[in-house]
Amino acid sequence: MLIRMQPQATAHETHAMRQHLHRLGFQAMALEYLGPGHFAAVPLAELAELPEAETAAQLRAGGHAIATVESLEAAGLASRSRRPEGTRVRVGGVEIGGEETVIVAGPCSVESREQLLATALGVRAAGAHLLRGGAYKPRTSTYSFQGLGRQGLALLAEVGAAVGLPVVTEVLATEDVELVAEHAQMLQVGARNMQNFPLLKKLGGLRHPVLLKRSPSATLEEWLGAAEYLLARGNDQVVLCERGIRGFDRYTRNTLDLAAVAAVHELSHLPVMVDPSHGTGRRSLIAATARAAVAVGADGVCLEVHVRPEESVSDREQAISPLDLAELMPSLRAIATACGRGVRRPPVREAEISDAAYCTM
Ligand code: PEP
Ligand code: MN
Repeated sequence: MLIRMQPQATAHETHAMRQHLHRLGFQAMALEYLGPGHFAAVPLAELAELPEAETAAQLRAGGHAIATVESLEAAGLASRSRRPEGTRVRVGGVEIGGEETVIVAGPCSVESREQLLATALGVRAAGAHLLRGGAYKPRTSTYSFQGLGRQGLALLAEVGAAVGLPVVTEVLATEDVELVAEHAQMLQVGARNMQNFPLLKKLGGLRHPVLLKRSPSATLEEWLGAAEYLLARGNDQVVLCERGIRGFDRYTRNTLDLAAVAAVHELSHLPVMVDPSHGTGRRSLIAATARAAVAVGADGVCLEVHVRPEESVSDREQAISPLDLAELMPSLRAIATACGRGVRRPPVREAEISDAAYCTM
């Protein structure tokens, strides 16, 4: 339920309303992004849940004419109707969901300072806006490299600051949320964790932007339902990321659902990115699908880039080089422009000349 206090409600009345909700088995979560006096009522785990209609009736009967109570079941907080103009998410100085298409690039995993720095300089020279890289890696096999963990986070923070790119990295476990948030400007929820509800609840309580990847088996309803967990706890800085769903053809690693981008724009106000790297799993298909992503209206493209792709410790087959990215950028720019958007050119820096050398490493 969405609770809207009347503008004339006093602090005491607001407090009383929150307490009343609590007695009915709900927690009132302040939704600052909708303005003062807005709350989402989310059920408390330990109390029996009353049917929504009954709760709303009880709230009204409880003398709370000072507030309006609206159901969120038909049109949730993520619904396009709640914010027809769309949501803009700010990550450092970069805006996602605005006029410009945003390019996120970096290695699958952080492997070393040299690998990350060289890659970061290369992707920056190519024109990327955000640096990605995994420190905590969700791997199919327990015997595979699991990421550098804390050391990887420290490298991301150091290199991101050194090259001037905000960092996005995955938070795998609920207990790591604070630590990861101290080192990165955007927190990624990986595809395998899209319905990790305790993790989503914790991230909803932060004001850090979240990149919510689609589970390979999630319907759009389930994906938006996961985003709703964040929005209902006061965090509207949410960007969705389509990264391919499980199809029957094994030629591509996943089936990149580009129609989902247009569909999500229809259904929700949240920005949507596309990850052609995990979406195809093949280096040779990245450029074509990245162009298609921009054409279908993606608010950003997320690419795995490694300074020496053939040496990538994880996801080697889908890694492209900084030079590949530099070669791809003009066509992404042209397509974005043709579709009424653009791709911002990062300011040229003195160091760029030598950075460009990394592209050919
Ligand atoms: C990643 O982006 O590094 C990753 C593991 O992606 P996904 O969660 O989409 O598989
Ligand atoms: Mn990867």
